Amino acid sequence: MNFDDTPQEAAFRSQARSWIAANAPKQYEQELRKSSLGRTQLTGASILEVAKAWQKRKADAGWACLHWPREYGGRGASPIERVIWQEEEGAFGKLSAMFIIGHGMCGPTMMAFASEEHKRRFLPPLASGEKIWCQLFSEPAGGSDVAGLRTRAEKKGSDWIVNGQKIWTSGAHYSDYGILLTRTDPTVPKHKGLTMFFLDMKSPGVEVRPIKQASGKSDFNEVYFTDVKIPDSQRLGEVNDGWNVALTTLMNERMSIGAGVATGFPELFEFCSNLMLEDGLAIDDRSVRSRLANWAVKANGLKYTYYRAVSALSRGERPGPENSIGKLVAGSMLQDIAAYAMDLEGAAGTLTGASEEIARGQFQQMLLSSPSTRIAGGTDEILRNIIAERVLGLPGDIRVDKDVPFNKIPTKGR
Ligand SMILES: Cc1cc2nc3c(=O)[nH]c(=O)nc-3n(C[C@H](O)[C@H](O)[C@H](O)COP(=O)(O)OP(=O)(O)OC[C@H]3O[C@@H](n4cnc5c(N)ncnc54)[C@H](O)[C@@H]3O)c2cc1C
Repeated sequence: MNFDDTPQEAAFRSQARSWIAANAPKQYEQELRKSSLGRTQLTGASILEVAKAWQKRKADAGWACLHWPREYGGRGASPIERVIWQEEEGAFGKLSAMFIIGHGMCGPTMMAFASEEHKRRFLPPLASGEKIWCQLFSEPAGGSDVAGLRTRAEKKGSDWIVNGQKIWTSGAHYSDYGILLTRTDPTVPKHKGLTMFFLDMKSPGVEVRPIKQASGKSDFNEVYFTDVKIPDSQRLGEVNDGWNVALTTLMNERMSIGAGVATGFPELFEFCSNLMLEDGLAIDDRSVRSRLANWAVKANGLKYTYYRAVSALSRGERPGPENSIGKLVAGSMLQDIAAYAMDLEGAAGTLTGASEEIARGQFQQMLLSSPSTRIAGGTDEILRNIIAERVLGLPGDIRVDKDVPFNKIPTKGR
């Protein structure tokens, strides 16, 4: 591993740093720095508007979606330049959260499968944040096993008519477009009868119902489709080859989620450095130090695993399935750290307000949001399966319905 910039990378870093210093919305920097998982919000400003304005400013100057080709709204930069940009963007990068699905998953899928005309029309406004996209894959009957989905698309002339329901669709309530995986042939095994489309989320027959979360926020939704008409020209890939298209999306999902997983350790360290217990600062307490030391080891393990992936990128290689370990370790760590910090807060640990209590309720928000990290983009068990099968070479999961026609798989409702 070599952590030093080459002369070319150092020049790129300095150019990025100067542009960010001159253009970033600095009035929000402190708030963004302090916001942790579960609570990125700004006092007196709409985060959606601030995020869109920052994204547009970046796009106008050629700093949006750096690794995308220029004709689609990117900069044509190398993967390592993208990593350098993320390091330099720092806290302002938290403003990109609502674009992650569009930029990290929908964009690359469109780039691989949409027509040239559609790529030139839809990708630049996606890169600039003027249009937001969502990913419509999961359903009540298809999450980890997404190929078990039941939303039907039936061909009528040059259109497809879609009926069904999606769930857990992040950002659907503010999205303009979405990529949608449907079942087009139920008579073949489940992976073989799927087709992918993209659609306008304002199409007649699309109904978005926000889901209220334990944290009080509504980040994701149920989405219902009733006779929604999608032109065949908005099909991505071949009819019944949607599984292959979905693999492109999911591969990009793992890469974009794995890039920067939150652990909660920096927040806990800062908290313990300032928290006064009965007999002195928490950071000086032996039992607190012992817990911190264990988490410091894990946090550093994750940091160097991430550096290993960055080194692979700089050599022109793709990070492999071993990167699944980042989210697996960080997800449970985040949950443990939040619970521990709330214990240290004593009675105040029961309060969740942002202004008056110790640590501004950040660990309470972290605790409520952290279980979702262990589910979104692959549950802990699925990540363990990936590591077992593809890194350690252990025998594969048992998949009894793999070769059975979808409409012959026994279900409770039939
Ligand atoms: C914050 C958040 C955002 C999300 N955003 C989106 C989005 O934008 N678009 C979208 O389409 N989806 C989204 N999802 C859905 C997400 O992809 C699914 O929740 C996830 O894939 C798990 O599916 P499921 O909830 O149906 O659980 P299930 O797949 O039903 O799993 C239930 C339990 O069984 C375990 N399990 C399942 N299969 C196996 C197996 N083979 N071996 C061992 N254990 C197994 C799981 O680990 C889990 O513990 C989001 C989820 C969250 C939490």
